[in-house]
Amino acid sequence: MTKVIAGDLVTVESIVPIGSDPHLHEPTPRDAKLIAEADLILVNGLTFEGWLNELIENAGTSAQIILITKGIEPIKSLVYQNSTDPHAWMSASNGLIYIENIKNALVALLPQEQQVLEFNYQTYKKQLEDLDRYIEARIQEIPENQRVLITSHDAFQYYGRRYGLRLESVLGVSTEAEAQTSDIRRLNQVIQDASVPAVFIESTVNPKLLQQIAKDNQVVIGGSLFADSIGDAASNAPSYYDMLKYNTDTIVEALKNWLFLKMLLTWMVLLYQNG
Ligand SMILES: [Zn+2]
Repeated sequence: MTKVIAGDLVTVESIVPIGSDPHLHEPTPRDAKLIAEADLILVNGLTFEGWLNELIENAGTSAQIILITKGIEPIKSLVYQNSTDPHAWMSASNGLIYIENIKNALVALLPQEQQVLEFNYQTYKKQLEDLDRYIEARIQEIPENQRVLITSHDAFQYYGRRYGLRLESVLGVSTEAEAQTSDIRRLNQVIQDASVPAVFIESTVNPKLLQQIAKDNQVVIGGSLFADSIGDAASNAPSYYDMLKYNTDTIVEALKNWLFLKMLLTWMVLLYQNG
């Protein structure tokens, strides 16, 4: 987001490398150096980067520290008291709040570049507004009773609430926890009850558990979704915008056609049996 708005005006570095898990990040000496030398530090907050405060304290920095989820209504964690679901960026409507906060922070840092920053921001804002409508319309293509999204960890609650999908996951809002047998049993039940055609793995989470669940329930892996990290330049999700669009297309394609395919398959089997 910051790269889109700032262009070449600033150097953007992320502490957590692309493709790795931010919940489990262990700060390195490189991170401390980045923090110490930064002019501006953008923080998601909402109990996401649990390791960051200590890192900032230890590294020492004179940078402005800006919470880019300011103004977002957090979803309370279903499991942990006094904890919030940090994955607020997963809906494009929340993304609009992120980019406004980022734009304001950049303008405060570079007031002489305000015009460029405002222009880039307005262009980006329009793209995300269009994307928000696109996602809303695409989710409607899935038959209503099949709008159930099953993933490894609970990163899609904001997405689900905004666009009308029911969410189920093996792990909670963090990947730190171990999966419990009861969670797996509950998921199996959901898959059977709602005739869920597909479950989804995530680019930053080990897929083993989900693959087992898919096998046990004879459903397919609908694809690999991006939630806690965008993908690299060669992936289908090299940016925030691409990530939300790719996730949506993957989810819709896997969940919408299933009934038709199932009928077709049954018909073909019958045809075959009858010679
Ligand atoms: Zn997460």
